[in-house]
Amino acid sequence: MANTKYIFVTGGVVSSLGKGIVAASLGKLLQARGYKVTIQKFDPYINIDPGTLNPYEHGECYVTEDGRETDLDLGHYERFLNIPTSKANNVTTGRIYQNVIDKERRGDFLGKTVQVVPHITDEIKRNMMYLGKTGKYDFVITEIGGTVGDIESLPYIESVRQVRWELGKNCLCIHLTYVPYIAAAKEVKTKPTQHSVKLLQEQGIQPNILVLRTEKELSKNICRKVALFCNVDEDAVIQSYDVSSIYEVPVVLSKQGMDKIVLQKLGMPADGEPDLTLWKNFLDNMKNADKTVTIGLVGKYVELPDAYKSINESLLQAAAYHKRKLDLRFIHSEKITEKNVEELLGDLDGIVVAPGFGQRGIEGKFIALKYAREHNKPTFGVCLGMQCMVIEFARNVLGLSEANSTEMDPKTPHKVIDLMEEQKNLTVMGGSMRLGAYDCKIEKDTQAYKAYQSDLIRERHRHRFEFNNEYKQAFEDKGMKCTGINPDTGLVEVIEIPELKWYLGTQFHPEYNSTVAKPNPLFMSFIEAAIKN
Ligand code: GLN
Repeated sequence: MANTKYIFVTGGVVSSLGKGIVAASLGKLLQARGYKVTIQKFDPYINIDPGTLNPYEHGECYVTEDGRETDLDLGHYERFLNIPTSKANNVTTGRIYQNVIDKERRGDFLGKTVQVVPHITDEIKRNMMYLGKTGKYDFVITEIGGTVGDIESLPYIESVRQVRWELGKNCLCIHLTYVPYIAAAKEVKTKPTQHSVKLLQEQGIQPNILVLRTEKELSKNICRKVALFCNVDEDAVIQSYDVSSIYEVPVVLSKQGMDKIVLQKLGMPADGEPDLTLWKNFLDNMKNADKTVTIGLVGKYVELPDAYKSINESLLQAAAYHKRKLDLRFIHSEKITEKNVEELLGDLDGIVVAPGFGQRGIEGKFIALKYAREHNKPTFGVCLGMQCMVIEFARNVLGLSEANSTEMDPKTPHKVIDLMEEQKNLTVMGGSMRLGAYDCKIEKDTQAYKAYQSDLIRERHRHRFEFNNEYKQAFEDKGMKCTGINPDTGLVEVIEIPELKWYLGTQFHPEYNSTVAKPNPLFMSFIEAAIKN
């Protein structure tokens, strides 16, 4: 595949338009035509990675198999394309500068003044071309984070301009903008789009394709007007109107021939149609489901659904496979009390206790888990959620009323969850958790085994604390079993209470490994149990 094609996706007018979804959808369409595709994201912020960011800043932190903490858009890329991303798929300004400064210190630029152009732009370009140069892909789609016009986006836009100049026909630029509807005037307005494209043109880029985000479908006239004023072919003005699910976007784009236009503009054969059979089956199941499964997600970022993006999507995928609509209720763990727990959780089919860090909201999680355990509700604890299952069980079943994680109470007399040995002498916060995919041995005749149908699995991690094996026997004697263990370290990865219908916690994050084509087995099994319930 010497002739890799590069597609860049930029955004204008406002952020949060769903560039990631558009990039993933286009990737899906090209993949569904038999091409090998990867998608990467360049984020203009100065953090080395989003691992140290509060979810309020950028939503969930997604983790790749090779252990990189990344932007949540990589989750969309994986869910749509069903292929793993890696640390090469997400690059930030921080990382670019770090590389350049390291080179400068090594003496690589000896005698030269190190500048944004060409040194930073060269480093951006090197990273932009990296995956393409592996020879594994027909298409590399690159999403540029942020909005055109931002100061910090400038070196990226300049790099795209240069790459495009160098690659000529093998490169294509797609610009995503917003067309607002002004209710008072009863009109949609294209001026912000025109301005945004002008800004891009000023920076040397004439987009080949425009994608207009809009709440309502736009008329032909509006699209023609945008084409004329933005200097883009009429058929290359695509609209992405609001749909009820992100998984419909590939279909919306394909109906307007976006994949064909991309192929034509890159000088490739564009006949035939993408094979979206599986995808459309999934959509049909999701949309035509007449029954609902009601799941409560107990966490502390409930006002911010992006904080639990991958969990939401994993639940939705598993529900669709079971031909159910997902009614997902976010339950604020800080608001749960002994008094209202019945009211909040009583009518749920299943409960998920979310991952997280720190003390805030933790007591509510214990109350929820005690209720779930005593009322035999299908319950799934993920990472911190699993650790909370352990602590609640220690307190209320083993009678260790002060049991805790040393994360919450370093002086607890019963450290049932404790800092991992290799974490104890760490002083840096960034990228230093136990990250990425590790093996887990699953015991036979357990819920986990029934779900995975395998005694050796691999899932992704992001944590510092672990189940304290000194208490393992005590837990097992009282009915909480350790059913998944890391074969190399003995670290407990899965706990279950076999006596209950479905009560299972994982130290790993199965939600990072669930796609439309291949929903995660644990989420499938959990939803099945919730439905039976
Ligand atoms: N705070 C816990 C730990 O570091 C759990 C992390 C998580 O839920 N991702 O171990």
